Amino acid sequence: MTKQLLVVEDSKHVAQVIAHIGKSLGYEPVIAATLAEVNALLDKPHDFFLATIDYRIPDALDGEAIPLVLKHGIPSIVVTGRMDDKTRKKILNFPVVDYITKENAQAYHYLLRVMKYQQTNRNIGVLVVDDSLTSRNQVLQLLKRRNFKTYGVPDGSKALQALQQYKDIKMVITDHEMPGMDGIELVQRIRKEHGKEELIVIGVSGADRSFQSARFIKNGADDFLNKPFCPEEFYCRIMHNIEKLQHMEEMHKAANTDTLTGLYNRRYFFEQGKKKLKKSLKNDKRYLLVMFDLDKFKAINDTYGHDVGDEVLICFANLMPQYFADDLVARLGGEEFVLLAHCDDIALMQGQIEAFREAVAQTVVTSGSAQLNFTTSIGAAMADGKGDIKEQLSQVDKLLYQAKKNGRNCLVLQA
Ligand code: GH3
Ligand code: MG
Ligand code: MG
Ligand code: MG
Repeated sequence: MTKQLLVVEDSKHVAQVIAHIGKSLGYEPVIAATLAEVNALLDKPHDFFLATIDYRIPDALDGEAIPLVLKHGIPSIVVTGRMDDKTRKKILNFPVVDYITKENAQAYHYLLRVMKYQQTNRNIGVLVVDDSLTSRNQVLQLLKRRNFKTYGVPDGSKALQALQQYKDIKMVITDHEMPGMDGIELVQRIRKEHGKEELIVIGVSGADRSFQSARFIKNGADDFLNKPFCPEEFYCRIMHNIEKLQHMEEMHKAANTDTLTGLYNRRYFFEQGKKKLKKSLKNDKRYLLVMFDLDKFKAINDTYGHDVGDEVLICFANLMPQYFADDLVARLGGEEFVLLAHCDDIALMQGQIEAFREAVAQTVVTSGSAQLNFTTSIGAAMADGKGDIKEQLSQVDKLLYQAKKNGRNCLVLQA
């Protein structure tokens, strides 16, 4: 459902720019140029997700629209032409999401970022660790205004528990002085389990102890805040760190996935496969290594064209996680795919692979008026952490070759 954006703005030009930004993010903008118009809109049933409020409009020259919109529970961003200290203080006295000054294009770029994150922050969990209930709640309130999913705990051991339990936590904001485990020890403990590419940690230290900030960073924190901090600084640092994490996640994804099918790539498969097999030496898990090669794929390309060939690869790739949801699947390259499956019961696994093979053979890809089927040959053998995964895969490749020789569209499994 599209979300409504209330744009309170008397300048037609600025209203258009904001409406345009809103539309580009999937909002449906509704413009009000006066306080009277705002009142009329809010008197009727409404469902505004967000508002931008011009500080000065003809019948509300001194920010009177702000409390009116906030009273209706609509998260609001103030847009102002002038920014003296008095105005700034007045705006920040209200629980607004943020404010921007209309001075330049950068300000609108910043507005776009804030409006975008207002929609996506709900998927990002932030854990606040502070033994003082007042400070904790203050930070939680600031985060809630920005639509983050929030968690609050009073000490380090509860923080570690929360991180185990809630997998959507992407950021931890921790105080330093706490009973039991202090903030710096907590950061050290967190970093043993969670790298910088998956979790942001921000330390908070008292102004009279500013040396703590350097200690936080040296012990694995990404950033720090000196208490007391103003909401503007808080939001800038949060946004900056979330963006950093997102860039890292994108880079990580690009490095590990195959662009055509969206499956993991060869590099990721060997890296994770090696880890799984090594772990299996300790946890006694057993694994089956399976290799798939599409049959006579060159003929599909030659008959229907390369694009249809690509479509067949995508179809095959989409089917794999449906049958092997909990296991590691990847595209090795070309029309070759691979699976490393946890396997305690070989007969059960064999049945699953045969069912997948059947499903592939039943799949129909349409190309213009033609419909085509395709099949896969499969080799499989148990794998363990004692040997090299690449060597074990070349053994499986030999079984796959056997499956081709046996007439294709079949499985050769060596238990
Ligand atoms: P076999 O049953 O013996 O496996 O025969 P095959 O034709 O599948 O095997 P072959 O190795 O001769 O041909 C594989 C073809 O896959 C050749 C190559 O052009 C094609 N191919 C590799 N990557 C892609 C891709 O990303 N897209 C498309 N459309 N074709 C690809
Ligand atoms: Mg104005
Ligand atoms: Mg091949
Ligand atoms: Mg092939």
